[in-house]
Amino acid sequence: MKKHDHIVKTVEPGSIADELGIEPGDKLLSIDGHEIEDIFDYQYYVEDEEILLLIEKPDGEEWELEIEKDPDEQLGIGFGQGLMDEYHSCRNKCIFCFIDQMPQGMRDTLYFKDDDSRLSFLQGNYITLTNMSDHDVERIVKYRLEPINISFQTTNPELRCRMLHNRFAGDALKKVDILYQGGIEMNGQIVLCKGVNDGEELERTIRDLTRYLPLLKSVSVVPVGLTKYREGLYPLEPFTKEEAQKVLSVIHGWQEKIYEEYGLHFIHAGDEWYLLAEEDLPEEERYDGYLQLENGVGMLRLLINEFEEAFAALPAGDICGTTEAAGARRELSIATGRLAYPYLKRIAEQMEEKYPFLTVHVHSIRNDFFGERITVSGLITGQDLTAQLKGKELGSRLLIPCNMLKTDEDVFLDDYTVKDVSDALQVPVDIVKSSGQNLIDAILGC
Ligand code: SF4
Repeated sequence: MKKHDHIVKTVEPGSIADELGIEPGDKLLSIDGHEIEDIFDYQYYVEDEEILLLIEKPDGEEWELEIEKDPDEQLGIGFGQGLMDEYHSCRNKCIFCFIDQMPQGMRDTLYFKDDDSRLSFLQGNYITLTNMSDHDVERIVKYRLEPINISFQTTNPELRCRMLHNRFAGDALKKVDILYQGGIEMNGQIVLCKGVNDGEELERTIRDLTRYLPLLKSVSVVPVGLTKYREGLYPLEPFTKEEAQKVLSVIHGWQEKIYEEYGLHFIHAGDEWYLLAEEDLPEEERYDGYLQLENGVGMLRLLINEFEEAFAALPAGDICGTTEAAGARRELSIATGRLAYPYLKRIAEQMEEKYPFLTVHVHSIRNDFFGERITVSGLITGQDLTAQLKGKELGSRLLIPCNMLKTDEDVFLDDYTVKDVSDALQVPVDIVKSSGQNLIDAILGC
């Protein structure tokens, strides 16, 4: 096992660490004689009421500190990296990898191919299990790092090796058995590639995965994202409307079967399938409590239902002091991707009907940056917004969903800022959080 250096970065004033004289720059060597691999080891061992901390000072002197504390009391030490370890990167070369299909010149972090079970637990990332040792799997069970989100793609071992371009990818599936036997909850994902893991292979995969119910709580099927940068990559084709309809009928068939036995729908179709197939979204109950929202599964259904609920409770007439009688009009615009456009258009029309002083223009933004097959709003760039909205009716405000931006920052994927877009279009830009109520508030400008 590699040696881990954990340098103290911060010490909370008044904390146990502060009182004991631990300072930034000190090195944590062990707790109770255990070398600390990462944040999970650290949290596990500091939970005890009595602990023995071994610290190395910058001059090489070692301090042994005996600590008595409440079980859940923290020591007040901060380490530079959130995980207290490097992020594990993937060892695959998947035929469908989105990162391989990105243009050059984007910010470095976007090209990092993580495949780390700790990020799966902390942030919901999906992992392939191909770079995990038995020790890593044991730690998941020991620390109960659940749920773990797994990118299956297929349960056919040979096919998985080919899809992930990794000769260990088939064998890696055996780790799912260990997680299952260890009682670890899981979610799964299948990126569907036409002519590769669809049809009979998809049936087989779903059938095989039902073995892990109910610990495997949900599995999503999403169509492979194809950008315009695929030169030299495995030739993948987009799904047609008829093919998307077939995929949906396979998924819906399994949902019925599994629901009868387990009371769970288990296998879920990503929202994009419904756009491709030109079919209505399923009702809320079919999403089993939206277990895969982060994966774009059920996002539109949730938005519509939240909107309908909040809309029904809205008083008609005077809103925020503006009435039709007063002659005050409010004109604004919403920008979104092709996927959400029809639903937002309907929402805008309902709002205009209830509040005749409102005019809401909804603009569907084509993804020229990645290619027009990419339809989600989360991958729309500042450049596309600016170029396509120039000269369009925007009213006094432009609303964009928060998923177009880097988390907690005003920056698009192409590093354009909200201010860049606002300046170029000469309109204030409002960022809307994801709920239906947020959308109503933003439209009304209350
Ligand atoms: S696991 Fe596959 S899809 Fe994920 S980053 Fe690695 S190569 Fe890309």
